[in-house]
Amino acid sequence: MEALRQIPPVNDVLRSPQLAEFRHILTQPFAIAIISSVFSDVRRELTESANGGSRSELTAKIATEVARRLRESLQPSLRRLINASGVVLHTNLGRAPLPEGAIDHLRAVSAGYSNLEFDIEQGQRGKRDVHVGRTLQQLLACEAAVVVNNNAAAVLLVLNTLGEGGEVIVSRGEQVEIGESFRIPDIMARSGARLREVGSTNRTRISDYEAAIGDNTRLLLRVHPSNFRMIGFTERPSLEEFAGLGRHRNIPTYEDLGSGCVTETESIGTADEPSAIDSIRAGVDIISFSGDKLLGGPQAGIIAGKKFYVEKVRQNPLFRALRVDKLTIAVLEYVLRAYLRGELDAIPAWKMLRAPETELKTRAETFAQRLGPAAKAIALKSVVGGGSAPGTYVPSWGVALDFPGLGVSEIEERLRRSNPPVIARVEDGHVILDFRTIFPAEEGELLCILQHLA
Ligand SMILES: *Cc1c(COP(=O)(O)O)cnc(C)c1O
Repeated sequence: MEALRQIPPVNDVLRSPQLAEFRHILTQPFAIAIISSVFSDVRRELTESANGGSRSELTAKIATEVARRLRESLQPSLRRLINASGVVLHTNLGRAPLPEGAIDHLRAVSAGYSNLEFDIEQGQRGKRDVHVGRTLQQLLACEAAVVVNNNAAAVLLVLNTLGEGGEVIVSRGEQVEIGESFRIPDIMARSGARLREVGSTNRTRISDYEAAIGDNTRLLLRVHPSNFRMIGFTERPSLEEFAGLGRHRNIPTYEDLGSGCVTETESIGTADEPSAIDSIRAGVDIISFSGDKLLGGPQAGIIAGKKFYVEKVRQNPLFRALRVDKLTIAVLEYVLRAYLRGELDAIPAWKMLRAPETELKTRAETFAQRLGPAAKAIALKSVVGGGSAPGTYVPSWGVALDFPGLGVSEIEERLRRSNPPVIARVEDGHVILDFRTIFPAEEGELLCILQHLA
């Protein structure tokens, strides 16, 4: 225990030059916790191996470690990274990258005050929904629309508003799990509505819904099977049949679209992704979809449809608990207007999804040439992600990496730990960088990271 005597007094450590820049925060609880944990680590090390060095060496060592941990705590944890996975809407990587123009608008309206809930014309209190409500009405050709925190919240809110205390009829083929513990039956239970399952896993007919309608039926629900695809002997009523049944029996119809596209999808090769506009046109009373999937905007849940039902949703006390803030509204209104203006390329997710294969090929080939023998341009298949267009592949181009002496997992890890981190894809025993999700402006930085990788 002789070595423990070398441990310096705390004050010596606090006065060391390594901590000079942190002097004003060293008495904060988080700093005290860091200091005491570094001291106890050093104490443990010293009891395990006696040679800890001189007291002044120990002082410097402790101060350096405290400074490192303080610096780590003061750095933002949420960081930019380069998505080379090719998955355009990657839930773990923040889903849709946001338009520069939306960020400019966000800065302009959020660094100071705004008319978030203020009617400038009338000089009175206004509603925060108006900023995106009208644009959504125009875009979807619907009567009314509101926005909540995400689509999971939208589903909960709609089921609670229209289904609580009664039965909601849904097909057995649509009891989907979206991931991150979002399951239709669980949300249904929390909403206070009872699930009434009809049909079979692969086939549900309109007559199945019809036969299940009773005195307790509050709502007919349809859920888009976002992240899987059923093929073979399958059947599902058309939107028109579904909406028609509700109208005929005077029961509201609700469709959870998941991604909910608001423009054509032929240009990205995913023609069967359901369109929010089609659902409204077919007469579905209320729909909901995500803001950060194929819409390409911020995290949000959009609820749209007939005014009567949207108004009921808005009056639910839960709506206040699930409402969005000005940051979401600012970004979302920019994205929605980009659709109105027909500027799909202003939305990064759409620009990436629409990038022609030939353009990606040229970029990948030029990049491989600049890097040299470590990279080879190859043709790829990428996925849309974010629970959109399951089972469809978008042709893409990228580079396969090969550094002599470095294994696949080593390359993947070094890329992931670089600054900024690069998230690659491992396929057929190769580390691959898919150019569909790499911004052209990131290529120089990426090249530099790869040049220093080995
Ligand atoms: C993604 C998805 C949700 C959840 O949406 P979030 O915006 O991620 O909360 C709900 N339903 C379906 C069908 C989905 O695809």
